[in-house]
Amino acid sequence: METRPPRHADANARRRSSAAAVRLLLAGFLCAAAVFGGAAALDDPRIRDLLDIRIGPSGMAVGVAGNDGAQPATAAPATPPPGFEEADAPLSTPVRPAAASDSYRFLAVNTDGSPVGYSPCRPLHYVINTALAPDGAEHLVPDAIGTISAATGIRFVYDGTTAEQPSPQRRPYQPEAYGDRWAPLLIAWTTPETAPQLKGKVIGTGGSTHFGYEGGPKTFVTGGLDLDAPQIANELRHPDGPMYATAVILHELSHVMGLDHVDDHTQLMYPEIGLPEGLSTGDLNGLYELSKVPCRKDL
Ligand SMILES: [Zn+2]
Repeated sequence: METRPPRHADANARRRSSAAAVRLLLAGFLCAAAVFGGAAALDDPRIRDLLDIRIGPSGMAVGVAGNDGAQPATAAPATPPPGFEEADAPLSTPVRPAAASDSYRFLAVNTDGSPVGYSPCRPLHYVINTALAPDGAEHLVPDAIGTISAATGIRFVYDGTTAEQPSPQRRPYQPEAYGDRWAPLLIAWTTPETAPQLKGKVIGTGGSTHFGYEGGPKTFVTGGLDLDAPQIANELRHPDGPMYATAVILHELSHVMGLDHVDDHTQLMYPEIGLPEGLSTGDLNGLYELSKVPCRKDL
C-alpha cells in the first residue's frame, strides 16, 4: 500500500458531499501484497522474495526455494510438531456479512479452487515490534485485529512485543525464539531501510506463509505485516490520520488473512484507498469465506 498524494490533493479529494457512502479516491494508495508460499501469480514487481516451501509425507522439508531459486535449505527441522493448539472445531463464529457480495479475490487457492486461509481451529498468535510505533498509534493494531477477528472468526492471541525485524527470508518455524510451534504473525513498525519493500510510496505490506503436504491443500501458518512507521507517523499528525492508518492496517491484515486486491473501488481491497470507511461488503464476504477453510491437525 502506498502513501497518499500531497496534502493539497487530499484536501481536494475530501471535499466530499454529505453522502458518506460515496468513496472518493486518492491516487496512489497502492499496496504490495505477498504470499510467501508462492502459489499466487502476483504481478506486482514490488512483491518481496517468496519462500516456496514444500514438505513431503514425513513432514520434513524436502525443499526450500526462493523465487530466485537460491534459498538454501536449513539443517534444522523446518516444521514444528503438528497440531499445536488445534481444536476439533473452529474456535469462534465469524459475523455473517449483512449483505452478499462476490467482490473479493483470494491471494492463493488450492487445486480445487478453495481459498488458502488460516485454520479456524487454532489461535493465531501475533507479536508486534513496537520500537518505532508512532505516539498515539498503540491502539490501532489491536483495534484492527478485533475487526478482522470478528469478520473471520480467527481468534488472535497477543504474545507481546518482539525485537524481530521483518525479513523476506523469515523462517516460519523459529523454535529458538518462539518455541515448538509456527512462528507468530510478525507485525512490525519499521522503515524502508529495514524493510526495502516499503521504499517509495509503499506504506505497508502484508502476506502469509502457506504450508501443505505434497499435492494436498495448503494452509497459512504464519505471516508478516510491515508498517512504514515514519510515513504513518506523518499521517497521524492530521485529524483523520487514525482513520487512514486504520484503513492501511485493515487492508494489510486482510492480505495476511488471504484476500487479494480487487478492481472494485468501493472495497477496502481496492489498491487505492479513498475515504477510509473500513471493510466493505465484498471485503467482509471474502473474509467470511476464509473462515470456512478446514482445520489442520496435521500442520
Ligand atoms: Zn494491498
